[in-house]
Amino acid sequence: MNQQDTASSSSAWLLTWLILAGLVIGAIVGQILYVTYDADVPAAWLQGFRFLGDTVFMSLLKMTLVPLVASSVIAGVASIGDPAHLGRIGGWTLAYYFSTMVIAVVLGVILVTAITPGDPAGDGSGIGAAVIQQGEAAYQSESGDKRAHIETTGRGGIIGAMRNITEQLLPSNPIGAAAQGQLLPVISFSLILGVVLTVIGEKGRPVLAFFEALFVAIMKLVEWILWLAPLGVAALVAWTVGRIGIGALGGPMLWYVIVVIAGLLIHGLIVLPAILWLIGRSNPYRYMHQMREALMTAFGTDSSSATLPVTIDCAEQFGGVNPRAARFVLPLGATINMDGTALYEAVAVVFLFQCYGITLGPVELAIIVITATLAAIGAAGIPSAGLVTMVIVVSAVNGSLAALPDAPQLPLAAVGIILGIDRILDMCRTTVNVWGDAVGAKIISRLVD
Ligand code: ASP
Repeated sequence: MNQQDTASSSSAWLLTWLILAGLVIGAIVGQILYVTYDADVPAAWLQGFRFLGDTVFMSLLKMTLVPLVASSVIAGVASIGDPAHLGRIGGWTLAYYFSTMVIAVVLGVILVTAITPGDPAGDGSGIGAAVIQQGEAAYQSESGDKRAHIETTGRGGIIGAMRNITEQLLPSNPIGAAAQGQLLPVISFSLILGVVLTVIGEKGRPVLAFFEALFVAIMKLVEWILWLAPLGVAALVAWTVGRIGIGALGGPMLWYVIVVIAGLLIHGLIVLPAILWLIGRSNPYRYMHQMREALMTAFGTDSSSATLPVTIDCAEQFGGVNPRAARFVLPLGATINMDGTALYEAVAVVFLFQCYGITLGPVELAIIVITATLAAIGAAGIPSAGLVTMVIVVSAVNGSLAALPDAPQLPLAAVGIILGIDRILDMCRTTVNVWGDAVGAKIISRLVD
């Protein structure tokens, strides 16, 4: 190891420890405030944390996203060259994303139907009127914007979600979409442009060189921004814990929380590593360790999109992922591959039906497997996106139940039951989302080599 390598590896370690300390200190400070102010932390504290975490740190990360995604996908695609080879790699990437999400959903459905967290007595009586009333009241007092978003998504159903994805894949105005920070349209336009640049060869060289240089510049910027990550994640975690309190994870929600976290742990620590070991032929836990900064940033920010720059940085610098794979597979993964969200949506939906004493048959469970996978694909890589797209699954199941004689239905207000603790579970599922993307990039890396 030369001197420069030693310096960069010791600064990577320092950053890791600082981010970890930020996560722990943020949780402790948030909880102390929550307890000190008896669950009513003054707005000034919360606004201060939000300012540091969201307005400063997250905005800096998000600032890099559109230029990073565009330059990364264009340079990545062009570096693969041959469009037929690219097509094969793209096919494998989508197959990996889709199958791991289905595995995650099935795992979630098995756990939640076996443990029945929404029906503690196990006799179909549900979770109790008090919890339901509290949940519905929480839904009504949620900001009108969020409710409107949930209701529109629910009304649009699965058809609306598919139309939305298609519109994003075929953007009529990619620059307009980029200006609004939408990543999927930027990715699909960049994919096409990357292929075209390869096809036109020499003539496209200056444009390609521009995007290659832009990528290098943005990655440098990301490395600088990352030094703010310890402070940023500490503020974000303090903000979340200060509002919710760690105790919210207990009480009647305890078993629900246990099922979600157990599912995420099984998927993240056993299923994905097994896939990486079998297909990617590399040591999964060493790779997880190499991706630690990205995983911790995902946990702190609740956003796989905002974490994307860090994910690319770790995968290329420490994870040994071929840049040609990382630059094309990771942006796509951050936008459509969400194993944690898929698992979470399945668990949450079955849980809510259990709470209301509605038993789901095999047909409804099959509908959940399909729609939760699609809803997770449609969820943007931003905080709480999974909570909103989850109502697509609820409305699909309600639609199927409507054919039954006494037509039991789950009211949308049921979402209120899980609203309060969503942010904390979001931290966990986002970490698994990013880990799933990273595993995908490592596997696809072998095909590109
Ligand atoms: N926050 C998640 C992500 O960014 C999406 C979700 O809400 O499940 O990956």
